[in-house]
Amino acid sequence: MSTYTSPITWADIVRVKKAAKAAKSTHPELTHTQRLDAMAQQYFRARHFHELQKRYEAQVASHVELNGAHYCRFCHLTFSDYDADDRKLHRERHQCFEEAQLALGFLPLPFKAREDIKRDFGYEHLHHGDTAARRMGALAIILSHYDRSLESAIKNARWHKHPCLVEYIPCAVANSTFLGGELLQQLTQEFGRRPDIIVAGHTDWPADVPSQLSWDSAEASVSKQLRLTILAPYLATQSEVTAQES
Ligand SMILES: [Zn+2]
Repeated sequence: MSTYTSPITWADIVRVKKAAKAAKSTHPELTHTQRLDAMAQQYFRARHFHELQKRYEAQVASHVELNGAHYCRFCHLTFSDYDADDRKLHRERHQCFEEAQLALGFLPLPFKAREDIKRDFGYEHLHHGDTAARRMGALAIILSHYDRSLESAIKNARWHKHPCLVEYIPCAVANSTFLGGELLQQLTQEFGRRPDIIVAGHTDWPADVPSQLSWDSAEASVSKQLRLTILAPYLATQSEVTAQES
């Protein structure tokens, strides 16, 4: 049972709305608003649905910091919370990111982290590492491209059509301009090569090409593990930074 003060997520709001809709047959005497209130009380001990919405807004606001402009640490948007259009834009994007995190179990890294990974663990290892390091360097570069592509799909509410990393890599390998020689052979052997899916010169998954593997496939699980392996050196530096700061 959720406590009165537990943060309300977008998924909670959706759950209550669905329950209220389903309760139409069991409580035909109630209006839709009354059913929403009843479900908010039943699931979250809220006085009414409006209170649940307020708690959801507070949860969203808890991610937003003001440093010149407003910035959301969750969906990584810089915006003005004083501007109605901007606020709406953030709300919609935030919901998309909440929905994606719930379904995918992770979110793509924000722009700065992607750039850091590409430079410090990608190109650095690609140009100066041994065979194993060069492989991880190439995968780090591909992952930074992948995360940008996934972020774009999430903000356009089409993450469900975006492939997992294992499906994306063969297309990235086929398109790559930074791979060559033995490393290209090695990655082709390991992951395959799938040309003509991603547009030449681009790294974003095309909006009109649905993925073949679903997000609950075994490959999606393998992808999550691979992602953590690629990110491990970067995440280690982040925990060092956190330790130094605390
Ligand atoms: Zn946000």
